Amino acid sequence: MTVILCHVGPDDAFSPAFRQKLAATAGVDPGAIAEIRHLAARVLTDDPPTLTVTPGEACWIGCLRPRAVRALLAHAGIRLEMAPVNWLADTPTPAPPSGAGPGHPWFPAIDRERCRNCDQCRQFCLFGVYARDDAGRVVVVHPLNCKPGCPACARLCPSQAIIFPFCPETPLNGDEPAATSPPAPPLTFEQLAARRRGAVSREAL
Ligand code: SF4
Ligand code: SF4
Repeated sequence: MTVILCHVGPDDAFSPAFRQKLAATAGVDPGAIAEIRHLAARVLTDDPPTLTVTPGEACWIGCLRPRAVRALLAHAGIRLEMAPVNWLADTPTPAPPSGAGPGHPWFPAIDRERCRNCDQCRQFCLFGVYARDDAGRVVVVHPLNCKPGCPACARLCPSQAIIFPFCPETPLNGDEPAATSPPAPPLTFEQLAARRRGAVSREAL
């Protein structure tokens, strides 16, 4: 049994009560909980976190936003499909601070369960953040080319599949999108160009 408490940023704090609840739910001693810290920053390095998931063996992950953690782990090439992963989310009050800054790298991570490979983010971004991989999937290749504080491509993604882990907006921050939000129709080339002009002029203000 693998039980992990995952901190996306330096300000993610988990109360003793949440740790107890995670341990009790997973059926382990609290001392058996492993921790991953600074996940967002570490997936950008040559030393991403390791996560040992034994095929067929249950795994529990406690965190603030499971969707953001899944997208960041996928960005680091860590695949979770091989084991049943159970998630327990904490909702601290107040929420940890957001926005770009020290310990808060600003870059997009793709929710692979929602992405439909429509290519709009890649066509929209002027800074080469996205590319297609050998399998034709849209992937983030140059995350730090992203403009700090701007989540423009996440706003236009028709599937709400782009997450900025430190974005103050929900669900761009990795919160679950409302169940009633159907995918929007793809934008035309002209609409994409107009949205890009709007994003650039907002930045210039
Ligand atoms: S715009 Fe959204 S759905 Fe389309 S490729 Fe990008 S992340 Fe995937
Ligand atoms: S927010 Fe802007 S710069 Fe960053 S990846 Fe999206 S389109 Fe590119």
